[in-house]
Amino acid sequence: MLIGQGFDAHRFAPGRPLVLGGVEIPHDQGMLAHSDGDVLIHALCDALLGAAGLGDIGRHFPDTDDAYAGIDSRILLRRVIESLHARGLRVHNADMTLIAQRPKLAPHIPGMVEVLAADMQCDPARVNVKATTMEHMGFTGRGEGIAASASVLLVE
Ligand code: MG
Repeated sequence: MLIGQGFDAHRFAPGRPLVLGGVEIPHDQGMLAHSDGDVLIHALCDALLGAAGLGDIGRHFPDTDDAYAGIDSRILLRRVIESLHARGLRVHNADMTLIAQRPKLAPHIPGMVEVLAADMQCDPARVNVKATTMEHMGFTGRGEGIAASASVLLVE
């Protein structure tokens, strides 16, 4: 078994969609990013790549490459999973935490789990997404952005 962890953060920007865990969430602003800014999928991809000893998301999908401008992060996640499968690795389980003061994320979590399990080709019961606030402390607490962390276990 191989364990991995990932972390990502993005800044809020007006006029952008807010996409977290592949789910578009109604909000007055979204994430500033080269891709769609799906901070949860980015943290998850880093955890998956880390477990496999394959570096990080920036190495595989550089934000200087126009091919990834505005890209749906689910495409990146599926590509990461394909490269793991090619190495004989499968996802055993994944556990993630979103850190945001607002909007309220709890109602959207079941949708995220469904999307992420489909893209990782694993049982939704093995995918867990949590959300917390930072009690108004720090950049997420001030509503400047959203952060996410992810832990995964791969099986050979
Ligand atoms: Mg990112």
